[in-house]
Amino acid sequence: MMTTTNETLTPVTLDELQMMTDFNYLHDRGEIAFQEVNTTNYLASRLDEMGISYERFDGFTGLLATIGDGRKPLIGLRTDIDALKQVYQGKTGVFHSCGHDSHMTMILAVAKYFSENPDQLPGTLKVIFQPAEETVTGAERVIKSGQLPQLDCLYGVHVAAANDIAGKHAAPIIMAAATRTYWVTITGKTAHAGRPWLGANVIDAFSTINEKFKQIKLDTDTPYSCITTMFQAGESSNIVPDRATFAVDLRARNNDLMNEMQEQAFAIMKSVETDDIKVILDGNDLSPASIPSEPAMANMRQAIVNVLGEDGLVEAKPSQGGDDFHFYAYDGIAKETTMLGLGCDLKPGLHVPGMTFDRSAMFDGAKMLIDAIRLTK
Ligand SMILES: [Zn+2]
Repeated sequence: MMTTTNETLTPVTLDELQMMTDFNYLHDRGEIAFQEVNTTNYLASRLDEMGISYERFDGFTGLLATIGDGRKPLIGLRTDIDALKQVYQGKTGVFHSCGHDSHMTMILAVAKYFSENPDQLPGTLKVIFQPAEETVTGAERVIKSGQLPQLDCLYGVHVAAANDIAGKHAAPIIMAAATRTYWVTITGKTAHAGRPWLGANVIDAFSTINEKFKQIKLDTDTPYSCITTMFQAGESSNIVPDRATFAVDLRARNNDLMNEMQEQAFAIMKSVETDDIKVILDGNDLSPASIPSEPAMANMRQAIVNVLGEDGLVEAKPSQGGDDFHFYAYDGIAKETTMLGLGCDLKPGLHVPGMTFDRSAMFDGAKMLIDAIRLTK
């Protein structure tokens, strides 16, 4: 598909000095999931300065700002706000090694633009300053708060490592895979190792489960995996063990494939149960795959070309990382969604403390988000 520069949109000028001030402030004061108190207060003070109305979430960090009078379409713009606790140069600290400081900076600039240019906004903008992306739990808290209305369209952004997307390039979607983790206990029946027929050995049960996991076959060409990542059993070398715990990690390119694989994994775990062997699910973690939206991606593609030219547009490669952004589409609160993948010479990689990137990419990224919003119908 050919996308050419859209001449009908008036050029955008950003307050780059203010953006660097925001970035430097936020960069130096990273806070971990659900503890972004200072960060939230700073964002609130910036919105106050811009005269943008917002509400705090009931009982947790983050903000929900509104620009516009409720007119449709209802367009969402989401930034994550948390950082990571890590050891860097021998010291434990909280670092914005996932670039959420840059995401907040861009989203503040977009909010400022539309508060000063309301005629450029095709509907109403809901700006979500979302906590706790790193623990993949913030989006669901926002959705469950009931404070976010049903959105026609939702945009997000994530800076990309240089080996995924080169500097001065961007992708109209970040193709996140679906991931699920299950923590499982197997209970059996203990006996003396010399009389194993009197017991029910949980290691035997686990071996069967593990072998069957490796034989899962789905009718697809896209990669998927179901592997055991943790296993523990037995305390004594001469006793039949009656308790084991394990963790299994499932990954698939899309949510349907994940559901199909999970069904098979559950059936496998059930298949080893007997009067003496029981398989119990202790807990799970889930992160949905991105759900590609053609209308949202078309707007983002056009926005990228407007800012970086035809040569700046790259189609996304599947990414290994997950992002709780995808819960907004998965849970049905946002109809069309996409995340801008922003190339910015980021090295050596995300989640590496001390990672660096070309900060001027934030100016381009903010302009792309502004254009994607302006193009939303
Ligand atoms: Zn991140």
